[in-house]
Amino acid sequence: MINFRHFGKAALLLGAIMALPAVSSGMAVAKEPLAKTLFGAQQLPAATAPKSYGFYSKGCFAGGIGMAADGPNWQGMRLSRNRHWGHPELVRTVEQLSRDAARDGWRGLLLGDMSQPRGGPMLSGHASHQIGLDADIWFMPMPDRRLSYDEREQISAVSLLKRDSLYVDDRKWTPAHEAVLRRAASYGNVERILVHPGIKKKLCDTVRGDRRWLSKIRPFWGHDSHFHMRIGCPAGSPGCKEQSAPPRGDGCDDALAWWFTEEPWRPATGPAKPKARDVMTLASLPAECRAVLEAPAPVSASAVTVTGIGGAPIAAAPVTARAFSPLPAIDIPLPRWRPAD
Ligand SMILES: [Zn+2]
Repeated sequence: MINFRHFGKAALLLGAIMALPAVSSGMAVAKEPLAKTLFGAQQLPAATAPKSYGFYSKGCFAGGIGMAADGPNWQGMRLSRNRHWGHPELVRTVEQLSRDAARDGWRGLLLGDMSQPRGGPMLSGHASHQIGLDADIWFMPMPDRRLSYDEREQISAVSLLKRDSLYVDDRKWTPAHEAVLRRAASYGNVERILVHPGIKKKLCDTVRGDRRWLSKIRPFWGHDSHFHMRIGCPAGSPGCKEQSAPPRGDGCDDALAWWFTEEPWRPATGPAKPKARDVMTLASLPAECRAVLEAPAPVSASAVTVTGIGGAPIAAAPVTARAFSPLPAIDIPLPRWRPAD
């Protein structure tokens, strides 16, 4: 005898299952792999000419170069993330900053995230950093010893702010903090440097003399324990989309005052919008990003990693004449192909 009570339940369940395909077909986009999954799985850069495609928060790049875990004036942090890759021009700029800053009295850089080997959206963290032109640098100079792998995973960057406040803690702020930011802003290709509004305010209140460089120092959420250095689209990357120039002037005006109102810190209301990385597929990115994903990889990470002046030699002779197109003149050892054996 059929138990109608249970039959009723089964019918309900069956109905629910049959309804599922109809529901999910409305979200067909979810069947495409997400771009963050594809790019987050890349272990090595695309071994083609260095080019950035798209925008800082929506793109990818080819011809990436890595920064070694250790250089004369830097130490990479969070090595497990494999995010110390960048367009050669960014790598050159970070390397130069590491040397210049050391001369200015900042022992060396603790390098936070740059980009994934081929850029693209990340599985976690940043919305930008996608085209090899962004680098995070800690507001702590390198210690006078080499940190262990585990320390680089675990040590936290210390906020420069007073606890529960939007203002810098004067016990933590030093002239060297100003100097490293001033140095980074002095480079022609550095277009903006993101810092917490409290840090921008500290500079506004204390920088004497030439203040034009302050226009590049842009207030933004977060960025109280590291700064974010961004260079402009490099030559040879016509597919790279320029950001709008920061307003003229030192930026110490009403635009900064806004950050010290309630508005920017108000919790968001309304339904939570999905993060861009959770919906972007390959189709959302510039068409060239497909080729970037499919491009061959160099023979190894070390073949395309910069160790800095005085570091270990990087490579032997190129395997193929045009594995890399000529790079812009830079004064760091250039990565070259090693014979694949
Ligand atoms: Zn950043």
